[in-house]
Amino acid sequence: MKSVIKDRFIKGRTLDELKDLMLELGEQKFRAEQIFNWMYNHLAFDYDQMVNIPKSLRNKLKENYDIAALEKVTSEYSASTGTEKYLFKTFDNRNIESVVIPDKDRKTLCISTQVGCPLDCKFCATGLMGYKRNLTAGEIVDQYLLASKDYGAKEITNIVYMGMGEPLLNFEETIKSLQIFTNELSTGLSRNRITVSTSGIPHKIKELADSGLRVKLALSLHSAFEDIRSKIMPINEKYSLKQNLDAIKYYAKTTKTRITFEYTMLEGINDREEDIKGLIKICASVPSKINIIPFNSIKHMNPDGISAELEPTPFHKIQLFADKLRDKNITVMLRDTQGDDIAAACGQLAVKF
Ligand code: SAH
Ligand code: SF4
Repeated sequence: MKSVIKDRFIKGRTLDELKDLMLELGEQKFRAEQIFNWMYNHLAFDYDQMVNIPKSLRNKLKENYDIAALEKVTSEYSASTGTEKYLFKTFDNRNIESVVIPDKDRKTLCISTQVGCPLDCKFCATGLMGYKRNLTAGEIVDQYLLASKDYGAKEITNIVYMGMGEPLLNFEETIKSLQIFTNELSTGLSRNRITVSTSGIPHKIKELADSGLRVKLALSLHSAFEDIRSKIMPINEKYSLKQNLDAIKYYAKTTKTRITFEYTMLEGINDREEDIKGLIKICASVPSKINIIPFNSIKHMNPDGISAELEPTPFHKIQLFADKLRDKNITVMLRDTQGDDIAAACGQLAVKF
């Protein structure tokens, strides 16, 4: 199926792949740069917008390659927070979601990399919905291009790979999407406005470090202790926290960036005094900061087992927890629950396949 998808769409091709395509079609290589720029910078969804491309080539492309990799189905706006959730449909009728999160001086787009997720983290609605398939680079990039079409070119200033799915389990397409986003002929987004979030796949973290892309990396930590982490994130049985900490140290050193630890506060599980001590130790071992996320309810998924027992840490306790970390000179960001009212907050994305 993968090659069918790749053959049918032009969106998602990197500049090098477009150059190869031009050669295959008997065209000049510089056309690749023009088409690349039209699709990813000027948000062209119609070949006829590409006025500097000869009509004969436009027609050839029109006949053989679809431009839009996704179709916008609906969007839902939260008036209280300004958050907007998009529902997109793929060519094979899969549904995926992306979220635009406004802040003072920025608009961040949270994008998906898989239809569902195979990793089954106990606190995550996407994990509970199961896994269907990887998204193509075209489908990853089109979330940004379609949202930008609504918001206006260059209005979306940041991208976080924190929607549905585990980006590092869809490594090849994630890398291609990053190559497209960071190319100077493309979106104009600099690498430090793009964050890839992972539950922790150590060998892929190292490969991302070696890719030269130097985007920001966030590790979903959620506990400083192996046994607790394994209980809420089964993937920790396969790839331990220790292996992941080694990998992120390599990432920070190779890319000269600071790692973000994401930490969703779960009452009685990771909000105790010993958790603070564990976090202080980990933060001392690598250039980093902590992003504390209030636990967003997943009750709309009717969970069972441990997922049904999870409760959010009360907000005043989260603030105390954050203050104790700050006292040790750790940078702590306390994220608001944004978009909870439209099930668009972290970990709430789930749709029928
Ligand atoms: N798969 C990747 C990226 C998508 S999840 C990862 O796990 O990092 C994005 C972030 O949302 C992760 O830090 C994840 O742990 C967090 N998250 C998942 N479910 C959540 C929930 N119900 N409440 C708060 N944060 C949640
Ligand atoms: Fe997948 Fe991330 Fe959700 Fe875990 S938190 S199930 S890795 S999307």
